[in-house]
Amino acid sequence: MRRNADELNKMRRAGKVVAEMHDVTRAAIRPGITTRELDALAAEVIKKRGATSNFLNYHGFPAVICTSPNSMIVHGIPGDVVLEEGDIISIDCGAIIEGYHGDAAYTAGVGTISKEAQRLLDVTERSLWAGIDQMVKGNRLNEIGRAVEKVALAANLGVVREYVGHAIGTAMHESPQVPNYWPGTPGPTLKEGMVFAVEPMLNLGGEDTILLSDGWSVVTADGSLSAHFEHTIAITDNGPEVFTAH
Ligand code: MG
Ligand code: MG
Repeated sequence: MRRNADELNKMRRAGKVVAEMHDVTRAAIRPGITTRELDALAAEVIKKRGATSNFLNYHGFPAVICTSPNSMIVHGIPGDVVLEEGDIISIDCGAIIEGYHGDAAYTAGVGTISKEAQRLLDVTERSLWAGIDQMVKGNRLNEIGRAVEKVALAANLGVVREYVGHAIGTAMHESPQVPNYWPGTPGPTLKEGMVFAVEPMLNLGGEDTILLSDGWSVVTADGSLSAHFEHTIAITDNGPEVFTAH
């Protein structure tokens, strides 16, 4: 769906709230902090900016951010988990302003992390930007995933296929989906005013996933580390505009 200027402006504002939630949580990540404390910091931003959370109560999700450490890919529930030196932690969160949604994620190291972990973070973030580079009007949607996958495979990383990006607007998850791989068809043509959340999830090992018994937490089947970077991006006449970055 294409959004008009007024709608895009609301999504831009929602995106800035999400960017601030990222700033505040990123600055607090250190050995000894719990994932519940990170959630509380993000909730303060939502409140201060007059936004509402699209994560809280989403199909019963109990928090405003997802916290997914180490081999957890996505959808971890904040709680008593204490971050330790050398961990990596993925933070995914969103916000709603006047009915319009933003959604973005990042993975950060806790203290000093291994070279392999750092490589995973660097390549996953780079794959996101390679996808964003494809978000120009006239291009086809699935060129995004093709670009993500190319970066991931060149670095010998596993590309999660069971969870994908999505269009976003008056709901967090709208159609169509945005896979992080070439699905075999080019998909719809990108037009100005379309907005998507692009979110590669890459693993140091294989692509297979397991859903844990809490019904939310998704981990790598082989126990390898996983990283997740996401932005909400609009197609404009002047190329991609990333709403969830400063
Ligand atoms: Mg997200
Ligand atoms: Mg998303």
